[in-house]
Amino acid sequence: MKHQLKRLLRKLVAKGFHVTGLRSWFRTSRAGVPVLMFHNVGSPEETDYLPDHMKVSEAKLRRLLRSLQRAGYRTLTVQQMVDEFEAGRVPGDAVVLTFDDGYRDNHDLLLPILQEMGATATIYVQTGPMKGRLNWLHHYFWALHRVGSHELAERIAQQVDRQHLKADLRSLPPGDEAAEYAMKRLLKYEITAEDRDTILARIFEDLGGTDGELASSVYLGPEECRTLDKAGVEIGAHTVNHLVLSSLDATQQRLEIEGSLRDLESWLGHGIASFAFPYGRAWDYDDETLGILRELGFRSATTAMPGLNDAQTPVLELKRIAVNEDSDLAEVLCEVDGVYRWLDRRGVRLGA
Ligand SMILES: [Zn+2]
Repeated sequence: MKHQLKRLLRKLVAKGFHVTGLRSWFRTSRAGVPVLMFHNVGSPEETDYLPDHMKVSEAKLRRLLRSLQRAGYRTLTVQQMVDEFEAGRVPGDAVVLTFDDGYRDNHDLLLPILQEMGATATIYVQTGPMKGRLNWLHHYFWALHRVGSHELAERIAQQVDRQHLKADLRSLPPGDEAAEYAMKRLLKYEITAEDRDTILARIFEDLGGTDGELASSVYLGPEECRTLDKAGVEIGAHTVNHLVLSSLDATQQRLEIEGSLRDLESWLGHGIASFAFPYGRAWDYDDETLGILRELGFRSATTAMPGLNDAQTPVLELKRIAVNEDSDLAEVLCEVDGVYRWLDRRGVRLGA
């Protein structure tokens, strides 16, 4: 109830400030740079290997970029934003677009839009899939779209040993979205990585999937990365296999982070400055992770924790605002203009 009320208020504030044009007044006092977080570009029907909350259509992205342009915003890469902070500036007219995981559509569909709009972005690439190595999440989403959350949960339940996990998988909440959320949580935190990977790979194969085919249809290859890089889009690292870093020991964490760094360096022929944590919540990385990033010379890292960024924001824990097809454009613009941040500082917490 409280959550619904907050959502309603958020919407009302957005409509009010948007329609009256009042939101632009906040820009001058914003004192922070919004980093928007996207994943996959394309219409939901065409990209059935990913969950809907990771998608934004070309039409919606164009509408958003046009609104930002009309409001006088320019786009920066994450590295350009960090450069500004280091020079002691907080660019009030800047917004940063980021795209996680390295989906093929970032080359096929996003790049033409950026070029048409004179915009730029940072794309965080996980390099494992490009070498034909797919992780459990690929198998998971692919299977999810073929059989739905309840049948997938049943198929997994049949293969796990632990009784309580079987029971949890068989008593997921009703409704596809809630069930999917609960199941993914169980798979992320309640089962050993080895069991989970084996079980999902088996289900994927049983349903007729093959890794090579899925990887090349879903992900950027080195060639597409080079094209994006040459077009002025920043390529950042996002590990090799997209695992929860805090669940790994120091050696494995280093392999994941350094592996993607070296892959990208060799594909692009220059250094990589930016990193994004897989999943990006505070519990998905730890002090070990931050130490490794520092040691490897990364100049920034982005989380999935909401908010704007300024020179005081830890540069290895930058905040981002998630945007997808369901996002309300007026609300996104209010986030970008700092309306919610302004209200937040006065005790009205409506921010994402
Ligand atoms: Zn990711």
